[in-house]
Amino acid sequence: MVHKRRYSGEKVNYRVEYDYDKAILVVILGLFIICGGILASIYFSFDIVENLVMTCILVVVFGILASYIMGNQMVREVEREFVREIEKPYPVVQRYIQTIDNPIIKVVEKPYPVIREIERKVFVTEPRHKLNIPHYKYVGSSETMTYHLRSCRISKSIKRSHLVSNNSRDYFRNHKYKACQLCHPEKH
Ligand SMILES: [Zn+2]
Repeated sequence: MVHKRRYSGEKVNYRVEYDYDKAILVVILGLFIICGGILASIYFSFDIVENLVMTCILVVVFGILASYIMGNQMVREVEREFVREIEKPYPVVQRYIQTIDNPIIKVVEKPYPVIREIERKVFVTEPRHKLNIPHYKYVGSSETMTYHLRSCRISKSIKRSHLVSNNSRDYFRNHKYKACQLCHPEKH
């Protein structure tokens, strides 16, 4: 007879151990009681009711004695469950760094970034170009054959086709130009 009870971590088994020596003793006791009962029944000449009562008493007595003899036969076995920890070796990946004497340099052609030119009109306020007009000190008119200072108001009225400009007074003198009577270029 095996009872199994599971507790957390332990297993308890109850079982009756049959001690054959004690079992024989119980059987002999039983036979003695039966014989005693029969002899008592004959000796006291019991009727059926008395026999039944006596039998019941003897059975109870036998039970008590039998249990006393067989007592402490119940074995309580406690099995503790142990968790066995098994350490598995973790596979270690070893890395080998190989040094190569002649390394192969791989040339990878990267796509050249395409530069797209986009025309965009940007309005910039540029500084005005200075017109590269030489500023002559004297101007003359080939029509009237007179020469003036550039600032003279008469010089503004000289037609472009007759305008002669020069920085030297001698140029006009050599070309027989007369000096203006208003601005007197010969004095400047
Ligand atoms: Zn003048």
